[in-house]
Amino acid sequence: MKNVVNAPSKQMFQALTFSDTNASTQCGLSRQLSDAFAMSHVFPRHTKADLPVAVTGDGCYILDRSGKKYFDGSGGAAVSCLGHSDPDVIAAIKAQVDRIAFAHTGFFTSEPAEELADLLIGKAPGNLDRVYFVSGGSEAMEAALKLARQYFLEKGEASRHRVIARRQSYHGNTLGALATGGNQWRREPFAPLMIDTTHIAPCYEYRDRREGETAFDYGQRIANELEAEILRLGPENVMAFVAEPVVGATAGALPPVEGYFKRIREICDNYGVLLILDEVMCGMGRTGTLFACEQDGVAPDILCIAKGLGAGYQPVGAMLCTAAIYEAIETGSGFFQHGHTYIGHPTACAAALAVFRKLTGGVADRVMPMGEKLTTALNDAFGQHPHVGDIRGRGLFRGIEIVEDRASKAPFDPKRGINKALKKAAFEAGLICYPMGGTIDGVRGDHILLAPPFILEDSHIGEITDKLNQAFKAVF
Ligand code: PLP
Repeated sequence: MKNVVNAPSKQMFQALTFSDTNASTQCGLSRQLSDAFAMSHVFPRHTKADLPVAVTGDGCYILDRSGKKYFDGSGGAAVSCLGHSDPDVIAAIKAQVDRIAFAHTGFFTSEPAEELADLLIGKAPGNLDRVYFVSGGSEAMEAALKLARQYFLEKGEASRHRVIARRQSYHGNTLGALATGGNQWRREPFAPLMIDTTHIAPCYEYRDRREGETAFDYGQRIANELEAEILRLGPENVMAFVAEPVVGATAGALPPVEGYFKRIREICDNYGVLLILDEVMCGMGRTGTLFACEQDGVAPDILCIAKGLGAGYQPVGAMLCTAAIYEAIETGSGFFQHGHTYIGHPTACAAALAVFRKLTGGVADRVMPMGEKLTTALNDAFGQHPHVGDIRGRGLFRGIEIVEDRASKAPFDPKRGINKALKKAAFEAGLICYPMGGTIDGVRGDHILLAPPFILEDSHIGEITDKLNQAFKAVF
């Protein structure tokens, strides 16, 4: 049976019929009604979903066609860091389109791409020196993997091709990025199509730190898995280690312990392996610093950003690489054997440039203090809840791990679909949050990810906890 968008429920029909008092609207209303009845030709994420139609963005809120207002407590998927109606970003996009919307990067560079690259490199950690603009996170990761491979070819180390990543990670849905990610259920159906990648343990203190072990010692032990894996594969075969500094969707804002990434960096250096950090979700101020890895005192060889870079106003991502990697290409074959039609899209770069100016002009400074307020409120509201095992994260990137039993940390039976039920109940209450299952091993475990816009006010924090509370009451 075909998917029907908004096959109108009785309430929705009533909302459309009776509550639209705005009205230039006679014809708007009849169009809404006919839309509501139309058979959709959109291929949705889920064929059984009956999605409301988003029509208006207003600060931290999204309004659907019935007028219902949702607080965007997860910025979609940690995207909308400036909310949904930033006038400066909107104006920048309009101004760019008025000048020129698109010029192919095979023929031209553009002012917004040049300016944005300068600004990003001005703030980027370590020796990152060049920016390759793409249209999203998966594209950034694909570019990173291919650049790593080409770098070693240019250097005459052709045997280096193996990628090591971590379980419970997500790096995107294109085949290279998916192969890199360590989430079992996402990988499984497509496994025969994937390049061979191996996965070590994530840094998951709540579950894996041993009794009596310090957080630091735990981090060193887990990081040393990388060394063991490099030695098992043969260092001459290993190209890169890939990790999210703070794990997002698959593990629920999971930060590393102190010293973990320093040890990872050391191991990569010892064996000539590139460190690729995926900051697609946790970067661009989300955790309280523009680049998440700043807080761990390390700099990668290649770094990927997306989501917060364009803040949802345009699809844009970027891969940053060090001067040394760029030089190997420049003095070698002279070109990176990669590219898509829309890389360096001027309108996307203009939007990202405006977002960057807002973030660095003060908005990102709100993340640490507001993140502290949010985590205090979450701890007050849910810290003693019988089904909350852990509240974690950095800045405005917070995760709540749900358990059936706090003492044993036992998760709910995945068949109960706790995360889906929480998502639905929160959405009904008017809160967009990002719950996910398989937190522990790709199958067991549930968590909720929160990543609200950086512009949120104190009153919004109460709204988040109130609405989450309603959802908890409905589900438990
Ligand atoms: N990497 C991480 C850490 C992500 O969270 C995501 C998306 O959620 C991606 C990569 C893929 O990004 P996109 O969905 O823009 O392709």
